[in-house]
Amino acid sequence: MKLKSSYFFTLRENVKDEDSVSGNLLARSGMIKKNSSGVYMYLPMGYKVLKKIEQIIREEMNKTGAQEVLMPSLIPEEIYEASGRRALIGASMFALKDRFGKPFVLGPTHEELFVMAANHHVKSYKDLPFNLYQFQTKFRDEPRPRFGLIRVREFIMKDAYSFDKDLDGLTLSYQKMYDAYKASFDRMGLNYKIVTADTGVMGGLLSEEFQAVTDIGEDRLVLCDTCEFASNIEVSPCVTHDIPLEPFKDLSELYTPNVGKIKDLVENYQISEDKMTKSMIYMIDKTAVLVMVRADDEINEVKLQKLFGATVVELASAEVVENLSHAKIGYAGPIGINIKIVADHRIRSMSNFLVGANKTDYHFQNVNVDRDFKVTQYADIRNIKPNDECPKCGGKIYFNNGIEIGNTFKLGDKYSKALGLEYLDADNTLHPVIMGSYGIGPGRCLAAIVEQNHDDFGILWPKALAPYTVGLVIINTKIELQNTTGEDLYQQLLQAGVEVLLDDRDERAGVKFNDMDLIGIPLRITIGKTLEQGKVEVKFRNEKEIQLVDLDQVLPFVKNFLK
Ligand SMILES: [Zn+2]
Repeated sequence: MKLKSSYFFTLRENVKDEDSVSGNLLARSGMIKKNSSGVYMYLPMGYKVLKKIEQIIREEMNKTGAQEVLMPSLIPEEIYEASGRRALIGASMFALKDRFGKPFVLGPTHEELFVMAANHHVKSYKDLPFNLYQFQTKFRDEPRPRFGLIRVREFIMKDAYSFDKDLDGLTLSYQKMYDAYKASFDRMGLNYKIVTADTGVMGGLLSEEFQAVTDIGEDRLVLCDTCEFASNIEVSPCVTHDIPLEPFKDLSELYTPNVGKIKDLVENYQISEDKMTKSMIYMIDKTAVLVMVRADDEINEVKLQKLFGATVVELASAEVVENLSHAKIGYAGPIGINIKIVADHRIRSMSNFLVGANKTDYHFQNVNVDRDFKVTQYADIRNIKPNDECPKCGGKIYFNNGIEIGNTFKLGDKYSKALGLEYLDADNTLHPVIMGSYGIGPGRCLAAIVEQNHDDFGILWPKALAPYTVGLVIINTKIELQNTTGEDLYQQLLQAGVEVLLDDRDERAGVKFNDMDLIGIPLRITIGKTLEQGKVEVKFRNEKEIQLVDLDQVLPFVKNFLK
């Protein structure tokens, strides 16, 4: 491509409303442009990179025997009603009506449609297994779109669905996808971890996430310094060792005016956090439950949801809390409250601790379980923390941030049962088809690659993904020899199949160099003064040194670089 006659622009300044390095660099380099909150245009170079990412994924999918299809985005709402997911996905679904008043949604994920497609094919066990996939636009009305391409409302997703007759079959199909995902992310040069995760709105038996390790990731990855343990914080189990209780002290009230917050209690009363509890009232499928953890722990809502098999877990409103505790917010506690109490395992080993007194401006101190109140149920309901014990090997836990670039689900028969996808076995008995579903976000991959490959000057694309691998810069377009040499090298490289960009604009050299750095072209060839000696300057994007190469050696040099 020649820049002078192309759609191409870059921005000198950082983009104000981009809150991530990748969003900012991709927008500054003219690869993407925000259209509305969480909705982006992919401009020529950005789209070129996106297509390369898609092609890597497509090749790895095709190697497994999966077949590519394309489903619609516009889907009758009743299909999601039938699977039970309309309510579950709720306001995150874009919903609309057609001119006759029939309700439709813009698909946020496509299990339902693939079950319908499978139903046109599957009659007996002989029709299984198979795997279908697509690259298709998804819509999710995110409450807080952010981080450029990472949390968006419209995005392309590669989703795949496997169909098997039994769990053994699913295990094989799942492994194929798992391997194809690893191969895809390896080819993209991503630094990633594979972690077990919550099955969330997908439901099913197992979920694993492929998480790109970055500074800004929204997910907290739980990793072990000793073994291979890797988990999303949402589902990481905690290890609790019971410790002997201290002799009980007498229960007493403590006057704590205007200090409903833990940190204020620590500061004002010199009580350490491990001698306090956090009591929060949750609505778990519309039933109020008091949830207790040690004050320095965090409540894990996904664990709560699993514990109750609940659909909705949310903090109770101020009104509900004040009604149940008969006190202002911040003073709820377990003593005398008339609802179920679920406590983290760690509470069992606490003695003489502090709780809210269900009375405004008061806490109870020297509280002890069983003597002063009863716990309905103990469970693992807290978040694991750095330096905690690894649940697998006893090693030390540390955290990384991650961007979820892919996920794999063993769905089992959840969707086939709900939507009637069955097959006849050899004895003529009907069974539900066993499914898996597998997603990759190519846009997120693109963002994660930039998060992992950039410097102060711009992006550093890996060779396999760069929009162009070689950038030819003509220093002075007023000098005819530079122009003709540039054109000649451009044609040589094009004919050799090299993706080459020619900067033939009438701009200052500094502008051209800055743009090449910003858009992250891996190899820059400069046609300038050294032409008098029959040489050009060659520089790799990730190195500082400039080399001189003879004109007739440029093509072999580039070929060697691309090897
Ligand atoms: Zn470990």
